Amino acid sequence: MKKTVRDVEVEGKRVLVRVDFNVPLAEGQVTDDTRIRAALPTIDYLLDHGAKVILMSHLGRPKGKVVDELRLDPVAERLAELLGRPVGKLDDCVGREVEAAVAEMRPGDVILLENTRFHPEETSNDPAFATKLASLADIFVNDAFGAAHRAHASTVGVTEHLPSVAGFLMEKEITFLGQALAAPHHPFVALLGGAKISSKIGVIDKLLTTVDGLLIGGGMANTFFKAQGQGVGQSLVEDDSLDVASETLERAGDRLVLPVDVVVADRFDAEANLKVVPVGQVPADWLILDIGPETVELYKQKLAGARTVVWNGPMGVFEFPRFAEGTFAIARFLADLEAITIVGGGDVVAAVGQAGVADRIAHVSTGGGASLEFLEGKSLPGIAALEDK
Ligand code: ADP
Ligand code: MG
Repeated sequence: MKKTVRDVEVEGKRVLVRVDFNVPLAEGQVTDDTRIRAALPTIDYLLDHGAKVILMSHLGRPKGKVVDELRLDPVAERLAELLGRPVGKLDDCVGREVEAAVAEMRPGDVILLENTRFHPEETSNDPAFATKLASLADIFVNDAFGAAHRAHASTVGVTEHLPSVAGFLMEKEITFLGQALAAPHHPFVALLGGAKISSKIGVIDKLLTTVDGLLIGGGMANTFFKAQGQGVGQSLVEDDSLDVASETLERAGDRLVLPVDVVVADRFDAEANLKVVPVGQVPADWLILDIGPETVELYKQKLAGARTVVWNGPMGVFEFPRFAEGTFAIARFLADLEAITIVGGGDVVAAVGQAGVADRIAHVSTGGGASLEFLEGKSLPGIAALEDK
């Protein structure tokens, strides 16, 4: 287990907190503040315990240059509203002006540094840059689970210089995802969907070491169908992964469950004509865009007694409302399930949000790529660099 903010004395200290404020913006406004809210427990704790809080984050991909549209000012504004206190927004994350502003701080003050990725040294994890960041503070807290799979200056470099601990969001992610992988309560059922099997094969391999059931949906099911010799019309298929699919089917045995019916469309379009067909009867010119109603019922049965459920990847092209029903039905079912339910993955988390049930899922991971790598059983550099208890 990693040390957390509870394990260090923060009173009167300058605490540098890496948060994940990589939020969507439109016209200078934050359009979804979920990630800002997710960091509040750590920030509130530090403020309540008399720390000087210096926040840093990346936003988008400015590629080492200043990009005005990717400044963190809208984030600072929203954060100040949520905290109910002023947030001092600086125009850089290192340098003399930043040092001067930090020197003026008093316990209970909050500063937000500028987008760390305006400096190319952030993503290259440049030691001199990391030293400058670290020199601003006495303690480092990493609460940016979403960036933990990257060894950058603000996630890993700074830990060489400062006592480094996890924030509450990071702790929650490690606890839920770690427990699901290492010691899940059984029955443990995983739902895997999304576009491609090739991007999920690491997760499939890892989950197959522990799951009692693996329910497949989304585009990746098509490659399994084709490997079984079933026609999939014009559906997305990865021919390069047919062997992997066959091997996986064999290894998983009857734990792996595929859709029995699918929603097909006559073109890849939100307004396409659609119909429900049994698997194996996809018309040659049509393509699969969602799981069908019988599959939804089958998956509900398989999920019914589960004590742990992990879900990555949507069951269909949920971006088209008429092809979102399979994904939304599963989301609503999980919301009512008495189980440790964990949803991770950029798109599936968005889908669960759209279904309106995110607050009834035990853990909605804030990491897209990071949760995927965690579920593959990889060590994430941003977590590995924190102190052990
Ligand atoms: P996550 O971000 O949850 O890990 P992925 O990125 O792997 O999920 O996959 C999400 C994408 O998969 C979505 O954009 C969705 O439209 C697409 N998808 C799901 N089902 C299908 C399908 N049957 N055909 C094509 N694309 C699909
Ligand atoms: Mg995705």
